[in-house]
Amino acid sequence: METILTIENLSKRYGRIQALKNVSFSIQKGHVYGILGPNGSGKSTTLGIVLNVVNETTGSYKWFDGKMQTHEALKKVGAIIERPNFYPYMTAEENLKLVCKIKSINYSKIEEKLDLVGLTERKNSKFSTFSLGMKQRLAIASALLNDPEILILDEPTNGLDPQGIHQIRDIIKEIASQGTTILLASHLLDEVEKVCSHVVVLRKGEILYSGSVDAMSANEGFFEISANDNLAL
Ligand code: ADP
Ligand code: MG
Repeated sequence: METILTIENLSKRYGRIQALKNVSFSIQKGHVYGILGPNGSGKSTTLGIVLNVVNETTGSYKWFDGKMQTHEALKKVGAIIERPNFYPYMTAEENLKLVCKIKSINYSKIEEKLDLVGLTERKNSKFSTFSLGMKQRLAIASALLNDPEILILDEPTNGLDPQGIHQIRDIIKEIASQGTTILLASHLLDEVEKVCSHVVVLRKGEILYSGSVDAMSANEGFFEISANDNLAL
């Protein structure tokens, strides 16, 4: 099986804060891989490191079995790690055209991706009129324009109402069913259980569990630990 991302003994300090400690896991092609942990457990730091926007302190990671340099590999990675940010007075479609221009992608995928995220009917609406859920869905469409091998999402359902949460989770499942590997950071156990095939559970920067979601869910001891950590159940 093709390995998409391998992380080995990653540690990160921000001054005196040990944000990650000896974190190792690997993501195979087709996995829907969760990083599950409460606030401050190191999820975003892990994503920042593999996206080359945060420096690791020690340890290493490699994309696609190390077959290419990080900056080449990152062209095959779609990521949404911040709140969606587009031009407010441009329409959804215009914003995606701009992304295509900046990234030298042709416009041919715009229609398909708008459809995938359920925004075809709103393609001529200005971004400023979108709800948070619609903004998040536009960001997903944007990240998929160049058909990345893997889509990385950092807490994509935060702040959404139940319907918005449901829509995003369904879209993630649909993207995964089309063969795109997913890496999803979440503090919600039920989200990981509903969406992910595999998971690494972090607490205070250390791995509590990694493996299949089914095996995690079957392990009652884990639930005790997570309840004590205030992981939303
Ligand atoms: P999560 O995404 O799971 O909430 P983070 O990776 O954001 O966790 O944070 C892990 C730890 O590192 C936390 O204690 C957080 O306060 C700290 N941290 C994150 N980013 C920085 C930063 N830029 N400077 C200092 N500390 C940081
Ligand atoms: Mg975070």
